[in-house]
Amino acid sequence: MPELNLGRPGLSVLPLGVGDAFSAIHHPTCMLVSRYETPAWDNNLVLIDCPQSIRKMMREADDGRFHGLDLPRIDTLILTHLHADHASGLETLAAFFKIAVGRKPRLVALPEVLEGVPRFLEAIKSLGTVDDLFDVLPVTEGLGIELFPPVGGFNDGMVLRVKRTNHPIPTSALRIWDQGRQLAYSCDTAFDGNLWEWLWRGPDPKMSAPADLVVHEVGHGIHANYDDLKRQGRTEPEWGKKLRLIHYPDDMLPMLEASPFQLMREGKLEIV
Ligand SMILES: [Zn+2]
Repeated sequence: MPELNLGRPGLSVLPLGVGDAFSAIHHPTCMLVSRYETPAWDNNLVLIDCPQSIRKMMREADDGRFHGLDLPRIDTLILTHLHADHASGLETLAAFFKIAVGRKPRLVALPEVLEGVPRFLEAIKSLGTVDDLFDVLPVTEGLGIELFPPVGGFNDGMVLRVKRTNHPIPTSALRIWDQGRQLAYSCDTAFDGNLWEWLWRGPDPKMSAPADLVVHEVGHGIHANYDDLKRQGRTEPEWGKKLRLIHYPDDMLPMLEASPFQLMREGKLEIV
């Protein structure tokens, strides 16, 4: 009997939420990463951040296309930082896995972020400690960690690298390398030229491949300023094709929609 072809391997990212913390239009910023060109076939998904109503966010992004996206299909949660719009669903996720799934998801974050996780789980301490609820994997700046083993003849598996951003609490930007493709995500940050370079070209431009897709936040106040992004964006020959904005405030939406930038959209799959 011929082997079943369960989807084309690759790297894809599905935005579940694209708004900022105060949005009345969008869910808070959150993404699913798959090792396939569509998450339909992937039962070991990577979730980047976990706002509240995460199951409804997954269901809405699925919209009947991806074979029922739901928490049990998550293998790993990468937690960038502990602001509520990125972490308010942590308690629900932990309790759901413990009670309804019966498996520990992996939790990957900076050590300084992991230090703050117990207070998010205070209300469910009867279910156990952080280590009872998650397989905890700290990730430090400068050291890549392999999240999944190699597939399809590649020497390396899915590798995650992080870099701290300019934000009031410990926060990490990230790059995910898998199957020769590079996904970069700024997370929350004031605009930072060094971080911009790291996102596009990696920690060592001589050694690392340029990013195939850069997801960058934009916003007001402590967030990345639109004019800085516009100025920097124009220096990247490929920026129009490779850059996506996320975490946008409601009041910027009309301006952004008229701008040359491409926006991440909830449920719009991006193949890296
Ligand atoms: Zn934040």
